[in-house]
Amino acid sequence: MRKLAFGYSTRCTIRCAHCVASGDHPNSIKMDHETAKGLILELARAGVGGVSFSAGEPMLYRNEIGELVKLCRHSSIYTRIVTNSFWARTDEVADQLVAELKENGLCQLRLSFSRWHQQHVSRDNILRAAQSCRKIGLEYFVSFITDFSEEDDPYEQYLRDHGLTFFPEPVIYAGRAESFDRRKIFTDYQANCCEMNPYLTPDLHMYGCCDAGSHFSETNFFYLGSLNDTPLEQLFRKSETDPMFTLIRTMGITNIASYAGMSGREIITYSKCELCRQLFNSPETLSRLRAEVHKLSAWRR
Ligand code: SF4
Ligand code: SF4
Repeated sequence: MRKLAFGYSTRCTIRCAHCVASGDHPNSIKMDHETAKGLILELARAGVGGVSFSAGEPMLYRNEIGELVKLCRHSSIYTRIVTNSFWARTDEVADQLVAELKENGLCQLRLSFSRWHQQHVSRDNILRAAQSCRKIGLEYFVSFITDFSEEDDPYEQYLRDHGLTFFPEPVIYAGRAESFDRRKIFTDYQANCCEMNPYLTPDLHMYGCCDAGSHFSETNFFYLGSLNDTPLEQLFRKSETDPMFTLIRTMGITNIASYAGMSGREIITYSKCELCRQLFNSPETLSRLRAEVHKLSAWRR
């Protein structure tokens, strides 16, 4: 099933120090609403079954996003909104807005939480938003962005103390977080296959991956093209048929890194997206891998 991260606007209510989405856009941009409505119908025709409204803070445009969610519902597209919960200031407001989202047909709310977000938005907002979801029957989960430092322990404990459904996710050292010192993490020697859902920006550029992919500025590896001059179907097909993207999905980034010459000891110090950046944001490594893609495909157990 095709899925898409839909960047309606890069505007946000806050300015997190680690933000990937807004890092390159000091001047926020927003998609034209009529264009967005037309696009939802086009996505449905292209067989897209899931749309995640992300980028800046979608709830800043809650009426417009609400209309887009409704359109998705009519087209049987699963929807998710990623939000920092700035709007959940009181129990009443949280209940009212969650009920409105549910009525529009929203399938899931993803609540962003981290020590960087919570410098600007009270953690109680996250709790209120989650509690309203439970009360009203809207699926939610908390996305807990962390660099796995001890500093984050009290944040994780808060989520546990309140019995919230949450999933830790590694901070991505891109956008504003580019200047952070990268913390080495030590993972299992796992495959790191990546589903790679494309990301559409408010100015209609499409990238092959929805996380750090639009920030591979040395190679523009994930750039698929612009809807201003290329049909949607063609951009999806490009994402689905690129041989290197296929290997990321099937063989995983760890095996590609090993093939490229990185030692196992070094590989396990990287999170998935960081490892991906090491390989595909390096013009030399990328051109070598592209040239050897058939040999690389045969590099299997
Ligand atoms: S809430 Fe999200 S989009 Fe807004 S600044 Fe923070 S990380 Fe970026
Ligand atoms: S691992 Fe690579 S392809 Fe997957 S989300 Fe991260 S940057 Fe994108």
